[in-house]
Amino acid sequence: MWNLSSRVHCLNQFPDEKVSCYVKRDDELGCGISGSKLRKYASLFPFLMAQGIKHLIIIAGHQSNNLLAALQLAREFKLKVTAFLIKPWKLELQGNYKLSRLFLEEQEIVWIARNDWPKVNELASDYLQTLNEPGFVLQEGASVPQAMNGASTLADDIRINEHILGLAFQHVFIDAGTGFSAAALIQGMARLNHSAQIYVLLLADDEATFRNKLKQWLELIPQNFLCFYPTTAKAFGSVNQTIKNEVKRLAREEGILADPIYAAKLFYESRNYIKNEQLEGNVLIIHSGGTLTMPGFDYK
Ligand SMILES: *Cc1c(COP(=O)(O)O)cnc(C)c1O
Repeated sequence: MWNLSSRVHCLNQFPDEKVSCYVKRDDELGCGISGSKLRKYASLFPFLMAQGIKHLIIIAGHQSNNLLAALQLAREFKLKVTAFLIKPWKLELQGNYKLSRLFLEEQEIVWIARNDWPKVNELASDYLQTLNEPGFVLQEGASVPQAMNGASTLADDIRINEHILGLAFQHVFIDAGTGFSAAALIQGMARLNHSAQIYVLLLADDEATFRNKLKQWLELIPQNFLCFYPTTAKAFGSVNQTIKNEVKRLAREEGILADPIYAAKLFYESRNYIKNEQLEGNVLIIHSGGTLTMPGFDYK
């Protein structure tokens, strides 16, 4: 029922002669649902069904990939939905929100003022208590413990790719929004005794925050990873000409659609890192998806 295997192929352009770069096409796992989200939901939804959950409370930004993904699956599995969304400065029916509203009625949205956002989990739990049916609060990014088994299928799938290609990866690059997918990869690779170094591009958190999350999600912190930060368009969600040029480069040189928020930033920063740190061997870059947000940006 859940296809969680995606291909790996070689890139055309390497940033350095000493490396061979490959991309994992998790962007191809789903059309409307980005790959990293589909993996999370592959264990979360069976859990929700087994628990007899009837109502999903989704915490999200109105433009988020996760809101759009959660709504599709909620409708498929006939769950009632309430979306707790952070109130934007200006609400426009465009981008992911335009698509999300196909699944979501106005009355199903609770707009949370920016000031109140730090206590949104509490507000959602309070709301859950008022329901007279079993419900579940889906935290931002679907980063809940029941999503961990699904998310960690990424590591198993990389192992399968290695067998098929007849090679081993020494370096694996992944982006981090909430950091949950990266945590699952770190844990999954450690469980497989895989010797690759994992490089986590922290798009939203600092390293201390990420390490605290690892402690919470994994209980112990493995040693098989390093963190790094964007060197350009540093704020989460921000885009500049350098990143737009990377979007265009990936299209023309690689034949890959890469969204500017996650994928293009990861490719750009991974290439920089490989060059600066003079990495050697086989490098894998995880393309997690997010392609549906691309029409919302101007690439000129
Ligand atoms: C949600 C998302 C991420 C980040 O995943 P986390 O588990 O929150 O770190 C990365 N890329 C895409 C396309 C996403 O939709």
